[in-house]
Amino acid sequence: MVQRTPHNVSKQRDDYAAKYGDLALFRDVDADAFGHLFAICEEVEVEAGDIVLEQGAPNDSIFVVLSGGLTVRLGTSSPEPLLHLGEGACAGELSILSRVNVSAHVIAAQRSRLLVIREDEVWSFIGSSHEFARNLLRILSGRVRDDNTRLQQSMHAQAHYARTSRMDALTGLFNRRWLDEVLDRQCRRCAEDATTMSLILVDIDHFKQVNDRFGHLFGDEALKAVANHLCSGTRPLDIAARFGGEEFAVLLHGVDLRGAVEIAERIRNDIAEADILGPEAAMKLTVSMGVAQLQEFEQPVALLETADRALYEAKHLGRNRVVTATEFDDTGLV
Ligand code: GH3
Ligand code: MG
Ligand code: MG
Repeated sequence: MVQRTPHNVSKQRDDYAAKYGDLALFRDVDADAFGHLFAICEEVEVEAGDIVLEQGAPNDSIFVVLSGGLTVRLGTSSPEPLLHLGEGACAGELSILSRVNVSAHVIAAQRSRLLVIREDEVWSFIGSSHEFARNLLRILSGRVRDDNTRLQQSMHAQAHYARTSRMDALTGLFNRRWLDEVLDRQCRRCAEDATTMSLILVDIDHFKQVNDRFGHLFGDEALKAVANHLCSGTRPLDIAARFGGEEFAVLLHGVDLRGAVEIAERIRNDIAEADILGPEAAMKLTVSMGVAQLQEFEQPVALLETADRALYEAKHLGRNRVVTATEFDDTGLV
């Protein structure tokens, strides 16, 4: 903390207007008329790294930067300062006016000279000068505005991280993590609303050969193209996700098995007919699909397993086809 010892304190008893008149806190204040108040204020010198205000500690003064600069930090080890306070800026006013302990460290960024206005003097200035009170209000409102901006930025950043942690970077679809969460929610919703839903699992056929023949970059383009077909072939509220590798899942709320098979067939056909355009080559791709409808009281994992068995059967039957659980159950294929 700043020590106000005689060797670093100097008082200037005259020409306060010339000395302090340009500071935002004293703008339009008749500084000479308040010479008696300035006379009580002290100036201190601090070295780089000195703690001017300590986070969590009580505070009884406003510090105005006369030269040099301060940084505001949350914790002493935080890598980036929250704020830089240059010449004319104030620190400590919030803790004085709200009578709470200091909310962040204020540390000298370099050798600096500070004007120290103790709490009693602050109130005397406020009582004697409308201009001082107005300036202080402006400084405070600026501080609140800055805090709001920072809050907004941190909320945006949080939303961004929350979004990206649930997105697949390559295809822009939701990822497996998101699918697991949403599948759980949708199953409960179906049970509560007595509605249904269906799940399509999609796996690109012989995708390893695509990579082997045309390279991984082309493979990535093919994954993106399939993802686009899944999105354009479903309604905005349907959920398409990258299940992992070259496998995808589509959740269709309110759609029964029959409806889901129609949608799956349409998408399968679209993909089979499309030219997949890569950086240097174009080719055809096919996908296999397993479709299952949520049964009453069924858990998400059971729905996934059923669709996965249907997908396995689609592969087994020769690929480029849509198979439902009931199809192979009824025919005794499993
Ligand atoms: P099947 O018809 O039986 O599904 O055969 P497949 O070759 O598609 O299946 P396999 O599991 O043998 O190979 C999947 C391939 O998908 C292997 C892997 O390198 C590729 N793959 C997985 N993720 C990515 C990716 O992000 N980019 C690219 N380019 N390839 C991927
Ligand atoms: Mg696979
Ligand atoms: Mg595959």
